[in-house]
Amino acid sequence: MKAWLCLLCEKPIPDYEPEYCCNGFECNCHGVAMNPPVCSSVCDKALMDGIGKPMNERRIAAGIKLFQHEPDIAAADAEYERRANS
Ligand SMILES: [Zn+2]
Ligand SMILES: [Zn+2]
Repeated sequence: MKAWLCLLCEKPIPDYEPEYCCNGFECNCHGVAMNPPVCSSVCDKALMDGIGKPMNERRIAAGIKLFQHEPDIAAADAEYERRANS
């Protein structure tokens, strides 16, 4: 199953369900989901504020960092150590 990613920061949104107006045939929705996949109100605002600009420009303008897909292994190890020693 394809995981939806936030349009702005590319964070996976597991519970996102696109809602379509129709299949876009002869409709000005162009078959695009009415609720764009965004992870938060911050990303949603950046999406709306930057209409007409490329996605990465909207993201940078809003100061949103791209989601880190790779887990931070060093941080996870440190957390494990901290728990093991407490
Ligand atoms: Zn986001
Ligand atoms: Zn439509």
